[in-house]
Amino acid sequence: MVRKNLWDRHEQAVLLVALQEVLYNNCDREKMIVDISRQLRQRAIANGDKIDDKFRNETGIRLQMLSLEHIFTNGKSGINKPNKWNSEIIHIYRDDWPYFQYVLHDGTTPLVEPCPRCGGTHTAPIHQETKEQGKNKKSSVSMPALQGPRYHCYDCHYDFGSAPVDPATGKAYADMVTEMTYTIETNDEDTSQTYTFRKAPAHIATQPGTTLAEANATTIPLTPAQWQTLTHTLYSKVRLHEWNQTTLGSPGQNDVTWALKIMQNKGKYVVYRGTNAFPSLWKDLMQVLMPWMRMKKDEPGEKLVAEGERK
Ligand SMILES: [Zn+2]
Repeated sequence: MVRKNLWDRHEQAVLLVALQEVLYNNCDREKMIVDISRQLRQRAIANGDKIDDKFRNETGIRLQMLSLEHIFTNGKSGINKPNKWNSEIIHIYRDDWPYFQYVLHDGTTPLVEPCPRCGGTHTAPIHQETKEQGKNKKSSVSMPALQGPRYHCYDCHYDFGSAPVDPATGKAYADMVTEMTYTIETNDEDTSQTYTFRKAPAHIATQPGTTLAEANATTIPLTPAQWQTLTHTLYSKVRLHEWNQTTLGSPGQNDVTWALKIMQNKGKYVVYRGTNAFPSLWKDLMQVLMPWMRMKKDEPGEKLVAEGERK
């Protein structure tokens, strides 16, 4: 069949990931455009679509990337000619990480998520009956839950996957964060290291990994766009709002203690902490923070990441 020119969700997700590679990882934009064009054309052909020379050509990819960039950076860069799908895919990326992964992998990733509380993988999407279906008991059709928790963990019976939005105010948790401090301490070597992430004017902010560590406290300034991506990823992917606030392991001689302090507006804050144990999504947290924290091998942070991965 002749392929319509509408971008499907997979293509949108691929372009958004490519854009972030260009913006944050110094990937060459033109090389990325060539790659994406080839990739999306090959996919269409493999799907049996009839395509012409214009289909996802480099000119088209370049323009779409610029209009997506305009929305993604809140108008700081790119071209102001956005499509409706530009904001839709950014919304999915920020607020529905499992679904974003699903479309990015072209529907091959099952929508099963590890439990953010116990790490269990015996989880399943929660289905709920609609009002009409509730009255009509004969109907066995149910709908995926649209509000509230969307998955149930059969290991610890926790319901998770709710939108990262404060139910009291309707505000995204990510947008409430004003500063974030991550501290690690080990008492065998009596070391402690603190990293403070905060939003800074664009001319002060740094590229990942270029912040020089001071003795035991490092401030990492981020541009508004980097800050927005970081905070939204902490809630969409790392699901901080569903973590237990305290994670304790057995006491030992060589205690490792960590804390993540999230400062919010009006002096409010939330602290997640643990000793000798790590939450199930620790690895995801480290994947988000590590590019910003320059650590030497054998620093306590490195050890912690390894501990988290072993779990
Ligand atoms: Zn669980």
